[in-house]
Amino acid sequence: MTTYLLKLGELTLKGENRRGFEQVLKRNLQALIRGSFGKVETTNGRFFVHGHEDVQDRIEDGLDHLLGISGWAKTRVAEKTVEAVIRACVEEGKLLFQQGVRTFKIEARRTDKKFPLDSYGIRQEGGSAVLEAVPGLRVDVHIPQGLIEVEIREKAYIYGTAKKGLRGLPVGTAGRGLLLLSGGIDSPVAGYLMASRGMHIDAVYFHAYPYTSEEARQKVIALAHIIGRYALGIRVYIVSFTQIQIKIKENAPESWLTVLLRMAMMECAEMLARHRNAKCLITGESLSQVASQTIENIACTESRVQLPILRPLIGMDKERIIRIAETLGTYKTSILPYQDCCVLFSPPHPVLRGEATKALQLYKQLELESLIEKALGESAMVKCAFP
Ligand code: ATP
Ligand code: MG
Repeated sequence: MTTYLLKLGELTLKGENRRGFEQVLKRNLQALIRGSFGKVETTNGRFFVHGHEDVQDRIEDGLDHLLGISGWAKTRVAEKTVEAVIRACVEEGKLLFQQGVRTFKIEARRTDKKFPLDSYGIRQEGGSAVLEAVPGLRVDVHIPQGLIEVEIREKAYIYGTAKKGLRGLPVGTAGRGLLLLSGGIDSPVAGYLMASRGMHIDAVYFHAYPYTSEEARQKVIALAHIIGRYALGIRVYIVSFTQIQIKIKENAPESWLTVLLRMAMMECAEMLARHRNAKCLITGESLSQVASQTIENIACTESRVQLPILRPLIGMDKERIIRIAETLGTYKTSILPYQDCCVLFSPPHPVLRGEATKALQLYKQLELESLIEKALGESAMVKCAFP
């Protein structure tokens, strides 16, 4: 049997809400490790997972996808005797040394005051036992390469350097948002970031077959599977925008095509959001990254929409977004070469600073309502990465 100990981080700051947040976190954790037969235990504000050695990989993968924890560690569980605790410290010291660690320190906490050593005593006795047993290790109290942590509670827990958790808040504590998900680099990252503030995510993808390929659609589904693992499942609505794009192309000034297409996407997304009880739209827009994302054009884009539009990447540069995409595991899929519908319809000289009143006027003339309703009515839904 293996035991993991979880560190809750930001959750500890949430005062009254704490209990509710912990319940959601527990449910999410159970969902993520389902199939591993791991058991979740919560005692005195600490989370533990117990599981069989054979399914360690599955449990650890679950912990690596769990939003709302600051870290986790595989821990030894010892009897509450000085000898057992010191012995476990020595074992942990040996393990750290094998992993290449050369300097360490011991951190100790004792909630059970009946334990014969206080935290200072544990550090002293544990430290000297480790130094004696593992000659290559030295103590460094300032910047140690490795930690040995000791917690004396209902049992004694001894573990090495904890692995970093994703932080953020547990999914399911902040309502639902609808992500406009394209096959690019940005929108999957935007969806993840809102999930990491506790939101449940639905997604909508506007497809323009045959102008965009079946591969483009599959790429979006693949991306939804990757971020869906963090977000505990994503429903992706696939809406065919071919007729709408053709109508815009045939009836609007060329330089306005992209802005008008975006307005139509937003309007359609808002209708879907209301249907799904989503409280906001989410996009991967980043200020001035492309012509359609100047502040003026963003104002045009959102001029038909009432719901709040969250743009978590608005102030980030591309490199930073790419770095997040790489850690999430979406980058390699995002850069596959299947083109998005916007690229195919993008005019050579787009308006850079569109005026919202003009945009609204052009948009109204297009009379897209019935086409949008039809497209929504015929949309398909794919469930991605539900645990
Ligand atoms: P991304 O990498 O997310 O595609 P981008 O830098 O390519 O972003 P745009 O193509 O201008 O930027 O799209 C801006 C935002 O509009 C996207 O982040 C996404 O939220 C939304 N969007 C664009 N195209 C689509 C689409 N076909 N389906 C759904 N949403 C889309
Ligand atoms: Mg794009």
